[in-house]
Amino acid sequence: MRPARALIDLQALRHNYQLARELSGARALAVIKADAYGHGAVRCAQALEAEADGFAVACIEEALELRAAGIKAPVLLLEGFFEADELALIVEHDFWFVVHSLWQLEAIEQARVAKPLTVWLKLDSGMHRVGLHPKDYAAAYQRLQASGKVAKIVLMSHFARADELECPRSAEQVAVFEAARQGLGAEVSLRNSPAVLGWPTVPSDWVRPGIMLYGATPFEEANAQAARLQPVMTLESKVICVRELPAGEPVGYGARFVTQRPSRIGVVALGYADGYPRHAPTGTPVLVAGQRSQLLGRVSMDMLCVDLTDVPQAGLGSTVELWGKNILASDVAQAAQSIPYQIFCNLRRVPLIYSGS
Ligand SMILES: *Cc1c(COP(=O)(O)O)cnc(C)c1O
Repeated sequence: MRPARALIDLQALRHNYQLARELSGARALAVIKADAYGHGAVRCAQALEAEADGFAVACIEEALELRAAGIKAPVLLLEGFFEADELALIVEHDFWFVVHSLWQLEAIEQARVAKPLTVWLKLDSGMHRVGLHPKDYAAAYQRLQASGKVAKIVLMSHFARADELECPRSAEQVAVFEAARQGLGAEVSLRNSPAVLGWPTVPSDWVRPGIMLYGATPFEEANAQAARLQPVMTLESKVICVRELPAGEPVGYGARFVTQRPSRIGVVALGYADGYPRHAPTGTPVLVAGQRSQLLGRVSMDMLCVDLTDVPQAGLGSTVELWGKNILASDVAQAAQSIPYQIFCNLRRVPLIYSGS
């Protein structure tokens, strides 16, 4: 059997969820969209369900997968409905959903709904992706109330630059939010992971941690709170071939690496078809037989090469950690000019092996 696999530590997931709660003092929706950032949404939801205040996913397809697996907790659809006829399923399964545009508000007004809805009304406070314009916000709130179809409204917005702790933009967004919600007596939700970790004074009844649940930092710089996170995923495989080369020999496609000294090269059964970033350069950290080493040459589809020259205890069959408890996914992402969000989401083909449930 091919030795590539991703070990998922559900105990670490629960630790990170508790940290989000502790740092915010708020209720927390665990964001498990995109198959829990590659960690497996159903298993992650099952591991958190006893303590989680609820979950958030991108769309109804992801939410239905949770219900089909028996998850009873609240589930928020972060993009709301894409077509008005999803409202029937939303009602049937008691989903909560975001209203980010006036066309969704109009669709609710037109719809016949059998049960009162829970709506998270989204303001565009400055990211300029989705969300209602500040001038429309209070009126939209009143219209939802007047529709008679809504049991509860939560006021929400989303930060564009919360990962930049020196940047004034997040405070500006909070000010826009505060002005727009004047006089609307409802619960609020603004904070994603960087804001949970780095913006303690932002008002919150609800927080929406995603990447931090999986133990990766959203920041480029070191951060004391982020250092308390525990990595959840360990991506590993094994050395399947060892070769000794003199100095001056090319390794891999395009001869992008040439040995500088007599070298031992380990070939690892893991490549970009598994989601390892193809643009990770020579020098990207890996852990081989418990010792830090580096990637050499271009990443292939199913294999990549690592330096064993200074790891004498490593050989055929040695375990290689590509990211996990020792090699941080955020460091690999940075080397490959990506972000941990993307390298987790890109994971595929490798089996997910769970522990700590
Ligand atoms: C994805 C998402 C989150 C989670 O963001 P992280 O940076 O992963 O914590 C929170 N809120 C909304 C609206 C999202 O789309």
